[in-house]
Amino acid sequence: MQLTDLAFDQRHIWHPYTSLTSPLPTYPVASAKGVYLTLDTGEQLVDGMSSWWSTIHGYNHPELNAVAHKQIDTMAHVMFGGITHAPAVELCKRLISLTPEPLDAVFLADSGSIAVEVAIKMALQFQVSRGKANKNKLVTIRQGYHGDTFAAMSVCDPVNGMHELFTGVLPQHVFAPAPQIKPDEEWRDSDISALAEIISEQHENLAALILEPIVQGAGGMRFYHPEYLRQARKLCDKYDLLLIADEIATGFGRTGKLFACEHANISPDILCVGKALTGGYMTLAATLTTRHVADTIGGGPGGGNLMHGPTFMGNPLACAVACASLDIIAKGAWQQQVAAISAQLKAELSACRTSEYVADVRVFGAIGVVEMQRPIDVAAAQKQFVAAGVWIRPFGKLLYIMPPYIIEPEQLSMLTHAISKYCQAPV
Ligand SMILES: *Cc1c(COP(=O)(O)O)cnc(C)c1O
Repeated sequence: MQLTDLAFDQRHIWHPYTSLTSPLPTYPVASAKGVYLTLDTGEQLVDGMSSWWSTIHGYNHPELNAVAHKQIDTMAHVMFGGITHAPAVELCKRLISLTPEPLDAVFLADSGSIAVEVAIKMALQFQVSRGKANKNKLVTIRQGYHGDTFAAMSVCDPVNGMHELFTGVLPQHVFAPAPQIKPDEEWRDSDISALAEIISEQHENLAALILEPIVQGAGGMRFYHPEYLRQARKLCDKYDLLLIADEIATGFGRTGKLFACEHANISPDILCVGKALTGGYMTLAATLTTRHVADTIGGGPGGGNLMHGPTFMGNPLACAVACASLDIIAKGAWQQQVAAISAQLKAELSACRTSEYVADVRVFGAIGVVEMQRPIDVAAAQKQFVAAGVWIRPFGKLLYIMPPYIIEPEQLSMLTHAISKYCQAPV
């Protein structure tokens, strides 16, 4: 890429959460294969981010490529209104068979945020359809992240999600404190009492509890005890709320189970998946629900229609690649891969604990997090990481990695060494 193109990028193109007035540097990537990103300069970087949880099988995967080529030569897209096609039907069959038993109906969405919008609509339409229109608020836990569209934002952590910027526009929902109990700590019944109290007091106005099971991702990279999720499920049953599990980050093996809900042996009433669904090839997400919720909505006002229908709904190309990605998952290698990554992250990141600049080190599944005492200078840190041959994108006080499942031990060590070095002497 020419320097003038880089200047154009800085001047005219927003990147995620950036300012055009004081833009951060961007690195031109020319190609990607396996765990490597190749910069325009020819430098190769080991990818620690899986392009935000998505590229679980690595870039430029031969099987995914073959399916994408075949589908593009057949039909890249067709509207989903009044039309159906094999890639969508195949994908939905697989999603229903992979997810917990009661989930039986699928809405194909075009991104994670939209899958959350649809989940919220399902919950609200469900309550209206059974004559409980007053149950029209959501309850959630702080430090969550559910996406960037308005309904999704309204259930993100109010501080991290900058709710005050949108006062008067964002719907007001109910927030419980974030769970404090870590996965390996001993459960105390008091760990659920704040959520229990809020739900018992406000259930007459609550349609659903929405949360990220076990792993809170972009809202803080926090891990919590599976018993919290089991108790949350019980509270939803007791007080007649739906449980919405947002597995957009955790779905498809990242936490060591296919879905994070499995750590608690629970099933949600509504499940959102996205990110890794297409193995990181293109944008696609899905919202699944039970036959009961689907039928209740179906008997409700407005002819029982679920009120959503994006232009690119069920895009055949994305559905075909998603099926191919699920085929790779079905072979099962991810289980050993995730376990090995997890063990190596635990072993190699623990050295960071000795640094005075580090507040916490935590690993869950194939996710490694080092929380610094102070906010990280992203541009400076990234420059150091690129020089070390790795791609790691910090945010806030957090250095975190969730590499492609196919990463080799030596490649993973490059990532952990770069993090350790940063921790000892932050730039
Ligand atoms: C990334 C994410 C979303 C939003 O997905 P997009 O595809 O970015 O819209 C929602 N929920 C969770 C848990 C996520 O990690």
